[in-house]
Amino acid sequence: MSQKIRLRYAPSPTGFLHIGNTRTALFNYLFAKHYNGFFILRIEDTDTERNVDGAIVSQLDNLRWLGIEPDETIDRPGDYGPYRQLERLDLYQKYAHELLEMKQAYYCFCTASELEQDREAQLAKGYLSPRYNRKCWKLSPSDVRAKLVQQIPYNIRFFVPDNSSYDFDDLVRGPIHFEGKDLGDWVILKSNGIPTYNFAVVIDDMLMAISHVVRGEEHISNTPKQLMIYQAFKASPPVFAHLTLIVNEQHKKLSKRDSHLMQFISQYRTLGYLPTAIFNFISLLGWSPIGTTEIFTHDELIKLFDETRFSKSPSMFDVKKLTWMNNYYLKQLSDEDYLAFVRPFLEQGYDLTKKTPVWVNMLLLIYKKELQYGAEIVTLTKPFFEPVEQVASETRTVLTELTDYEAMMATFKRELEQLTDWTEGNIKDLITKMGNQYDKKGKHLFMPIRIFTSHQEHGPELVKVIYLLGKEQVINNITKLQ
Ligand code: GLU
Repeated sequence: MSQKIRLRYAPSPTGFLHIGNTRTALFNYLFAKHYNGFFILRIEDTDTERNVDGAIVSQLDNLRWLGIEPDETIDRPGDYGPYRQLERLDLYQKYAHELLEMKQAYYCFCTASELEQDREAQLAKGYLSPRYNRKCWKLSPSDVRAKLVQQIPYNIRFFVPDNSSYDFDDLVRGPIHFEGKDLGDWVILKSNGIPTYNFAVVIDDMLMAISHVVRGEEHISNTPKQLMIYQAFKASPPVFAHLTLIVNEQHKKLSKRDSHLMQFISQYRTLGYLPTAIFNFISLLGWSPIGTTEIFTHDELIKLFDETRFSKSPSMFDVKKLTWMNNYYLKQLSDEDYLAFVRPFLEQGYDLTKKTPVWVNMLLLIYKKELQYGAEIVTLTKPFFEPVEQVASETRTVLTELTDYEAMMATFKRELEQLTDWTEGNIKDLITKMGNQYDKKGKHLFMPIRIFTSHQEHGPELVKVIYLLGKEQVINNITKLQ
């Protein structure tokens, strides 16, 4: 690609960073970086009633945490600012007035109630998609002047010729065609001086020299309106890529209101998901490289990105896969990084002041292989902090399936009591001794010992578990089941 590659993510600050908009940001980012281009983050805040306090700061913070750093944005301006639409209102005014002069747009003095009445009349006549009746298009120049002098509020409306048509070649969908007569004349600038989305987005993309637009498929129907504005200014439009839907496991479109499914990046961040895992996971929502590998670093994804490989079918948001990936990335951390990452979660769950750092580190490390996300460490390590009152009935059932362990456990307990030096080596030797003495191995040796000592049927390395529980706790646990 010879032209300068510039892509943008243009969130409306109406909410927090969601899986869907993160995906949009991510693909725009990967696309830009793959071609050594620029990734711009612009704030589309013209829908002032829907703006949410703190949304911008939080979205930027979470994107940066994921490793998606804009080259140009509100707090890192480039040559194309301002990067917030409410600071660009004079630009929209200027371009709307140019369209008025070119007779591609006109003043519309109709009030909201007039428009509503007309809409209802058209619906009553059976028109399925009512359009503006062009009353104000027909006003004479002197009528218009008179109304302007009287300071009657007006919208500026774009004139869409009936015989026009709009085509674009979508990177995901291929050729898409719209007829102008189905669209109707639409408002580009409202009477309060605020532009509508379809107008502002084009002025911004044009002035910011955006070369490609990657966004959700809900914007396909907006694209013809946007193409009209490019045409009016004789500007070439960007290349569009409309990503397919993200669906849940029931194949329904993700709904932000579905509280059963966590969909915001901050929720995963709080629970202790790694940014590397989320970045990797989201990069495969609606896109894939050649081959079957699914684990890629940030830099590999930039290298591999290929805009011809967007998927044409919906992608499924599979939390189990995300969790699997997170576990994978946690295991890849060095022990030092892992401990620094997981320790704060344990500190949130339990009072560690009486524990030695060596004990805490060892405890955290025995769960490194199985830990799915940071906060899970609190549940996993519960037996080390809050011994169970009642042994789970399933655990007792497992015991009933084993035979002839009572004598061994009695001996094991006695030997443990006599152990003066509580070391991993001594505990390990004792277990070996039990195996030899009672002629048991594998499950028949380890399962009773694990259940009696820890009250759990599964867990990490048995010797370490016993060591970390400590002599007193282990003896108490055994006694409870005898
Ligand atoms: N502000 C729009 C949105 O959040 C941006 C759409 C676009 O990328 O053009 O959906």
